[in-house]
Amino acid sequence: LGNFGLEVNILTPGYGPRIYLTGILTELELEADGPMAEQVCVGEGCSRCLYSCPGDAVGHFDINKPACAQFAQEFGYMTVTAMMQKFAKADKAEKREMLKSRDLFGFWQGILRVVGSFGDCPRCLAVCPVGVDYHAFLADDQKHIPEQTPEKVALGKRFKQARKDGDDIPGLNDWNIRWVGPNGYTGQAAKKVRQEFKDGQKRLITAAERGDGS
Ligand code: SF4
Ligand code: SF4
Repeated sequence: LGNFGLEVNILTPGYGPRIYLTGILTELELEADGPMAEQVCVGEGCSRCLYSCPGDAVGHFDINKPACAQFAQEFGYMTVTAMMQKFAKADKAEKREMLKSRDLFGFWQGILRVVGSFGDCPRCLAVCPVGVDYHAFLADDQKHIPEQTPEKVALGKRFKQARKDGDDIPGLNDWNIRWVGPNGYTGQAAKKVRQEFKDGQKRLITAAERGDGS
């Protein structure tokens, strides 16, 4: 399917990190393919996910999960347990106020619809340039990253230099590299998918012009 990006989201050549994974139980005997050895992520020279992250959570093929959770799980487990602890200690008047608060509304939404409790921050997903969907739908709006700062750019450059120098990078150690793509980034996987997409579009246009819908 793909492998991990700088921000440790799974990246696919077709849709970058903008996918949901699911599983199907079957009794069919299926042939497994091998792991993807090419690194799908453009790498440290891109660092757009790092620039966009409001929680400064993106590391060097690593992520600070608590820092990410403050934005991606605004009403996730961490927030809800903190709220419950606060509620248990509050006096009657405070409890009454808490029951009318935005936090309680968020907690309720999180339980009912998962809104706010999971995947609430879209930034690293939206700005990642990998995937045909990025070029078709997102590039115009997401080209500029308002959260980018000189400090974040400097951090991306340090990551790039560290990799070039062969430094000991935990996110790329012997265990993790197989999830990132041991062959490194060449752009070939993305190029192949882009070509297939273009060919598919051409076929659709030709069929529409012929009016046969095939
Ligand atoms: S989901 Fe948001 S907070 Fe988490 S790593 Fe991505 S950009 Fe940062
Ligand atoms: S934004 Fe760039 S550095 Fe981040 S995961 Fe996507 S390709 Fe990799």
